[in-house]
Amino acid sequence: MKRWGYMEKYFCLELAEGVVKGKKVTLEEIGMLLETAEDNIMLLFSGADMIRRHFLGDKVDVCSVINAKSGLCAEDCSYCAQSSMYDTKISPFPYIGRNKIFDVIEKIVNCGVRKAGIVTSGGKISKSIVSDICDAVREAKNKYGIKICVSLGMLDKDSLFLLKEAGVDSYHHNLETSKRFFPKICSTHTYQDKVDTVKNANNIGLKVCCGALFGLGEDMGDRVNLAFCIRKLEIKSIPLNFLDPIRGTCFENKKLISPMEALKTIAMFRYINPESHIKVCGGREVNLKDLQGMIFFAGASGLMTGNYLTTSGRGIDLDFQMLEDLNLKADWS
Ligand code: SF4
Repeated sequence: MKRWGYMEKYFCLELAEGVVKGKKVTLEEIGMLLETAEDNIMLLFSGADMIRRHFLGDKVDVCSVINAKSGLCAEDCSYCAQSSMYDTKISPFPYIGRNKIFDVIEKIVNCGVRKAGIVTSGGKISKSIVSDICDAVREAKNKYGIKICVSLGMLDKDSLFLLKEAGVDSYHHNLETSKRFFPKICSTHTYQDKVDTVKNANNIGLKVCCGALFGLGEDMGDRVNLAFCIRKLEIKSIPLNFLDPIRGTCFENKKLISPMEALKTIAMFRYINPESHIKVCGGREVNLKDLQGMIFFAGASGLMTGNYLTTSGRGIDLDFQMLEDLNLKADWS
């Protein structure tokens, strides 16, 4: 282990104090942060926790997803069980329609969740499905006052505008990885297509939920670049996913990220995006294992609960119990 000088050792905390006072960290500082964190990981977490507490207090952003159209996707994202290019064991189904969406929302609400994400597979969806989802959103918001996020692929401005008019609270679209690494995970659309979707949603005034998927073979430099790209796009809700390799996809043999590496990645995102909600979503259980509760001490301020799109979660009750044990409160704003 390297012998660190006092100032170097406590660089994580000094930087965190600066962030709390409004400082924007630089690429060089993040390099130094990650280097010193190699031997001083708890100081990295302490700094990330300090930033989270300062900007977000005990508020935790919680949501559940509704799989409204599964599989049958013509895109070739190498990690995805829903691409029709791979022989995976999921059961695809076409768009389920507003009545079934409404049924699932009712179940989610009955479990105590007040924020739902409607997700469809595919690069983009038809105008008629957008219109049907708009009706479901109006009805659900009217009846339950629930917050609704939608994730419908790379939509044009007109469709995004219709969703906003229907009362959608936020649009979800992940960049997944760095611009440099993206061609290694997808060839049927570009990084710029994704950035354009995020900018379109931003420009019409929709709040945007935009994040990452780790464990694709990218290095820490790619993750850092993505964190800065997300900061530049002024994203206020950042979902972080960790690959749960699916049999039949190109990435079926990828190794899981270790729990400590996952926590370190979360903490790095917190230093770069201090005021945003950072939510740990898909792959939490299999990658973090027994360290799930540590995500908040590493700077996370949210989680996805219930089942994911093609894999199972551990149950909403257990997640709510974890928040209660940590004195954290679900925030539905
Ligand atoms: S991530 Fe989305 S666009 Fe890519 S293959 Fe999966 S469903 Fe299709």
